[in-house]
Amino acid sequence: MTSPSQPAPSQPAGAISIRGLVKRYAPTGDGEGKLALKGVSFDVPEGGIFGLLGPNGAGKSTLINILAGMVMKTSGSVDIWGFDIDRDQRNAKRSIGIVPQEIVFDPFFTPFEVLEIQGGLYGVAKHLRRSEDLLRAVHLSDKRNAYARTLSGGMKRRLLIAKALVHQPPVLVLDEPTAGVDVELRRQLWELVSEMNREGVTVVLTTHYLEEAEQLCDRIAIINHGELIANKPTRELVGMAREKILVLTLDRDMAQLPSHPGFVKCDRTGERSLEITYDKDRSNAGEILSAVQAQGFAIVDVTTREADLEDVFVSLTSQAHAAA
Ligand code: ADP
Ligand code: MG
Repeated sequence: MTSPSQPAPSQPAGAISIRGLVKRYAPTGDGEGKLALKGVSFDVPEGGIFGLLGPNGAGKSTLINILAGMVMKTSGSVDIWGFDIDRDQRNAKRSIGIVPQEIVFDPFFTPFEVLEIQGGLYGVAKHLRRSEDLLRAVHLSDKRNAYARTLSGGMKRRLLIAKALVHQPPVLVLDEPTAGVDVELRRQLWELVSEMNREGVTVVLTTHYLEEAEQLCDRIAIINHGELIANKPTRELVGMAREKILVLTLDRDMAQLPSHPGFVKCDRTGERSLEITYDKDRSNAGEILSAVQAQGFAIVDVTTREADLEDVFVSLTSQAHAAA
């Protein structure tokens, strides 16, 4: 599934390049409309799987819908495959395939017809259409002539992916492809996305599942409250999870929290319980426990947990919050 579209002569390093993107929705009642994107800038490198990660309401769909030409940006610029979405709308649109968050189909068309109609909309000549190939690629050949309304949720998602690829775009964007999808189907979708990527398609996906982004993406950007708070190779981001956490229960109520230079953080979680975060490269559990005991606390229970991407995410988002 290589792409026939040539990049624009001025193509920058990225498959997508976003600068200072701002979106303010129109006000609904009194007051100002929601500022969903507050000046976001990043590049999606060509050839990889890029994850845009963020909690619900962060602004992911707003950004994707701007790429899709379905939401008007307030300001900033977006290049897709080197084509500016304002100045070269037609080429920008041809360079991207979007799988929206919501599933919408005319229930009376068959998968084959859905793809043929989409091909027609994009002006793909009949002899160049690849509807059969695409159905095979998303494992729906046997549903070729079934009504869309009879397909399972998973089949509909796969059909949406095929539909997004009808015009052979070099960039495929999936908005929350696995939200509300069961484990088996999620695995199938991951496989399908990886397959498309191996065949040369640059993939962008949004998700609020850290684990998903961690397993699938080679680069992850994190968006929170309309701001980009991280953008790193997945390896590096996971490397930030060097912290370990000791969960302690003490024998009496704490008048004050213990402290020690080896603590990255010490949080009270109850009258007698606390969580101490430390950097496992710079300290160890023995040292931390002795420090607590040396300050007059007797420990009645202790467990540990590893920091994971979730903790990195929480720590990044709380920093961003504190800075805002
Ligand atoms: P995400 O996809 O990350 O969950 P969205 O981009 O859907 O986030 O939403 C970002 C923010 O913009 C949310 O606060 C949401 O309520 C608001 N929003 C989204 N769409 C609209 C709209 N059409 N009109 C007004 N506000 C909107
Ligand atoms: Mg969304």
